[in-house]
Amino acid sequence: MPESAYPNSPYHFVPLPESGVDRQAAPPHDRFQTTSGRLVVRLRTLSPLFIGRGGEKEQDQEQQYLLTSAGRLVIPGSSLKGMIRSTFEAVSQSCLRLYKGEYRTRTPQNYVVPAAHLPQVTQEKGVSGCQDPANLCLACRVFGMVAGGRNHLGQVAIGEARPEDPDLQPARGFSIIPLMQPRPHHRAFYVLPPNQRIGRKFYFHGSQVRTSNHARKKCLDRVIPKDATFRFVISLTNLDKGALDILVYSLLLESTMAHRLGQRKAAGLGSVQLQLAEADLFPDPVARFKSWKGGEHHLTGEALTSWITEIYQRLAPNMGLPHLKALRAILRFPDPINRRYPSTDWFGQNPRVPLAPLDQNLPQTLPSFEPWSVPIPTVSASGKAGQATTRAPTPIRPEELPPVEATVTFNPGSQKWKVQFQLDGKPKSVEIKDGGWLGNRLEEIRKQVAKKRSVTLTVRVQRDGNNFTILGLG
Ligand SMILES: [Zn+2]
Repeated sequence: MPESAYPNSPYHFVPLPESGVDRQAAPPHDRFQTTSGRLVVRLRTLSPLFIGRGGEKEQDQEQQYLLTSAGRLVIPGSSLKGMIRSTFEAVSQSCLRLYKGEYRTRTPQNYVVPAAHLPQVTQEKGVSGCQDPANLCLACRVFGMVAGGRNHLGQVAIGEARPEDPDLQPARGFSIIPLMQPRPHHRAFYVLPPNQRIGRKFYFHGSQVRTSNHARKKCLDRVIPKDATFRFVISLTNLDKGALDILVYSLLLESTMAHRLGQRKAAGLGSVQLQLAEADLFPDPVARFKSWKGGEHHLTGEALTSWITEIYQRLAPNMGLPHLKALRAILRFPDPINRRYPSTDWFGQNPRVPLAPLDQNLPQTLPSFEPWSVPIPTVSASGKAGQATTRAPTPIRPEELPPVEATVTFNPGSQKWKVQFQLDGKPKSVEIKDGGWLGNRLEEIRKQVAKKRSVTLTVRVQRDGNNFTILGLG
C-alpha cells in the first residue's frame, strides 16, 4: 500500500545554508591573536561501539575485528576528529568537505547532483569542499584542509582516547543487519522540502541495536561495551572566540542529544556522549608573556560549568535556525523509534515517497554536567568477582597527547636524536639514543638531517607527569 512518508529511516538530513558558505583566509599559525590551550574530554558509550582494525576494506568482509592497541581498547584520534568535525560542519554551516560535485557510490558509477538540488549561490559561496587555503570555511580553518597538493594545518589536534578503567575488557561481538547501498538515485529520500535541496546526512540513534540471523550477516568479533568511559585531549592553537564556542557546542551538544561514532551506525551502534573534564585556556598570550600565569585559566568543576553555560547563552539566539533544529532532532537521545531501512520492494512501490519530516519543536537544553563515575569490578576474598562498584575518575597515566609538530636534530658525537616541540606554549625537549621510533623512514630522515641540520616532523608523544616519550611519527 502506498504511504505518504517513510517514518523509520536510520538517517535524515541537516539542510545546507541557502545563502551559501562564508569563507576567508586562515589565520597564520605563527601569530598569537586568540585562544590556545587544551581540553580534556571524557567519552561515554551509550550503545556498543565498533571501530574495525582493517579500515574501509574490511567493511566488505564477513568477519570484522575490533581495533586494539597492545591488547588494550582504544579509540583513534582520527575517528574522534571525523565525528567532531561532522557536527562542527553542520553547526557552522561549513562546506561539504568530501563533495566535489558528485557523490561516489560503491558501484562503479558516480552520481552527479543536479544544480537545482544545491543552494542557488555564486561559485565562491558554493557548498563543495574548499580548495584554496586563502579562502576557507570555518570548519576547514579549524580542522584543516588538503586539496590538490595545497593544505592548511588546522587549529585543533585530537589525541587517541584511552579507557578510564585500565582493565576495561571488550564485550562479545554479534552479527548485525546487512548494509544496504546508499541510494542517491532514490531522489525522494535525498532531497528536502521546500526547495528540494540535498543536505548533510546524519544517522539517528534508533531505539535498539539491530542484531541479525540473516544469511548475509556481518559478524563483529568483539565490541566496546555500553557504559564504558574514555578520555582524550584536544589541543587548541589560535582559535577565535566564535570558533571556540562552536567547537564546545559541537563536543557537548545538549543533555537530550548524543553523537554517533565508529562503524555500523545504521544498525544502532556507536552512540556516545562527551563531557569536559578540564580546560586549560590561554586567552591572551601577550598578557601571559608579560606576567607569568597572567592570562592562564585552568578550569574545572563549577568554573568549567559556568564557562560552558556562558557559551550556550551566547549561542542561544541561533538555536532556532533550521539547521540546528534538524541536528537536534536527528541526534536526539534516547530515540523513541526503532529505525530500519525500507525493503527493496518498498522502494519499488513508493518511488516518490519522501522521508517523514523531522520534529521541529524539541526544546533547547544545556549539556549534562553530572560527572560520570567509572565502574570497577571488586574482587572478593574468595577471588571471585563481586558486585560492581564505582569510583571517581582519575587521570590516566601515562597518556598519549595529540600529535605535535617537532623539530628533529641528530648529534653525530653523542649519536642521539633530539626532538623539540611546544606543549601548552612551553618548549619541551626529548633525547633518544635509538632511531627505531622513525620506523622505515629512519634512513631517509637521517639523510635529510645530515643535509639540512634539522627537519620538522609530526610526532606522537606520550606523557607521564613531566616525562615525555616519543612513540613514533604522527
Ligand atoms: Zn571548507
